[in-house]
Amino acid sequence: MSVSAPSSCRVAVIGAGAAGLFASIFAARKARGVVALDGAKTIGAKILVAGGGRCNVTHDVVDELQYAGSTRPAIRNVLRRFDVPQTVAFFASRGVALKREETGKLFPVTDEARTVLDALTGALREAGGLLVHPWRVASVRRVDEGFIIERDHARDGGSPATLTASKVILATGGMALPRTGSDGAGYAIARSLGHATTPLIVPALAPLVVEKGHWITSLSGLTLPTSLEVRLSSGKRVARYENSTLLTHFGLSGPAALDISRHLTHARTTDSGASLVVQWLPGSTRESVDAALLASPRAGVARTLTTLDLPERLARALCEACAIDPGATCASLHRTPRLALVDAVTQTRLPVTGDRGFTFAEATAGGVPLSEVDLATMESRVCPGLHLCGEILDVDGRVGGYNFQWAWSSGWIAGTSA
Ligand SMILES: Cc1cc2nc3c(=O)[nH]c(=O)nc-3n(C[C@H](O)[C@H](O)[C@H](O)COP(=O)(O)OP(=O)(O)OC[C@H]3O[C@@H](n4cnc5c(N)ncnc54)[C@H](O)[C@@H]3O)c2cc1C
Repeated sequence: MSVSAPSSCRVAVIGAGAAGLFASIFAARKARGVVALDGAKTIGAKILVAGGGRCNVTHDVVDELQYAGSTRPAIRNVLRRFDVPQTVAFFASRGVALKREETGKLFPVTDEARTVLDALTGALREAGGLLVHPWRVASVRRVDEGFIIERDHARDGGSPATLTASKVILATGGMALPRTGSDGAGYAIARSLGHATTPLIVPALAPLVVEKGHWITSLSGLTLPTSLEVRLSSGKRVARYENSTLLTHFGLSGPAALDISRHLTHARTTDSGASLVVQWLPGSTRESVDAALLASPRAGVARTLTTLDLPERLARALCEACAIDPGATCASLHRTPRLALVDAVTQTRLPVTGDRGFTFAEATAGGVPLSEVDLATMESRVCPGLHLCGEILDVDGRVGGYNFQWAWSSGWIAGTSA
């Protein structure tokens, strides 16, 4: 049932995604007069698609090392205020038990994201908060007694309206998956109220695209453990992730590729020669792979690589990329091609042309710097009465439930303080 917005309220929360819903619940539990506004016709689209429709709510172990963006001590400060046990307890109190999977990720036992969304909207309703949508915000103006919020009725199809609020919580998210309504409009609102945003706002957790026709695209569908690194032109390693990678018709996906994508993008803004290097056998070294080839003179080259746990299709493709017959015996390999193959196995430099953009990204790197908010309240340091939480801030986590945990922690602080 659609609910219309009142003309004034105590706290207006702009954006009812994970962070905005959480902030609204805790603001409404403290006092009446909380209105959450969202431009989307359907609430919680991102929660519903998260974790392949199962919603990876958080991770067993969350610390600041799993995040990038504004400084890690600042991120730690926020995460500690509302931590994983408190998240688990909140969802349990709403009838959503979470289970831990082998990777440490926590999912609802129902394996259905819908239970997470229903728990949040139910908690907001019970706390007396109002959820109004579609009500897209066009602008927010600071006035003496608070804020005047203007509706973008041309975009949401409603009638012209304004809402006055004593406090505003800005929770409009970033730019990932823009069709859900998180299209970056919140940055313009934050800037209009005096905030800066980081010079770079780029996709995070985005699949990587390699040059058209590169041999890895012929291995589409293969998933394997890898170690991915970003190396600068100087050879310096600036990021490394060891996890599974999925090879696709366009390049790389899977957790390691998603985790490293924002680091590659960042490195390339200052160093166009920064590259992605793949170690196809994490745990092996150049020396150990070379020793294996030398130790099996009569075995086939590709066959020998498969005994090291390299999938056969990849072993053959690596040989062919080095112009080596996969069926040739190891003894027939001269030193130079052998060492080229060893390098290909342990440090293939992939010609990544970019990522698949915000449409396919799961998060946003960049946003409003944490230095512009008081971390004890998430209140803006430049616009009193304005609080910010969630992905609009310059914080992005790895794959594994860290981004939602950021939304819960920062949303809780903003909601309880506003
Ligand atoms: C496909 C996908 C899968 C993911 N899976 C996971 C996962 O399993 N675990 C995990 O931790 N993270 C996951 N994430 C990341 C996670 O969903 C986000 O980090 C998180 O939802 C951010 O919460 P938020 O509330 O800050 O922003 P959002 O969830 O983006 O919500 C922002 C809300 O603001 C509204 N809005 C924007 N502008 C306006 C405006 N002008 N007026 C009114 N409303 C507005 C939008 O409609 C939206 O509802 C996934 C992301 C994607 C895209």
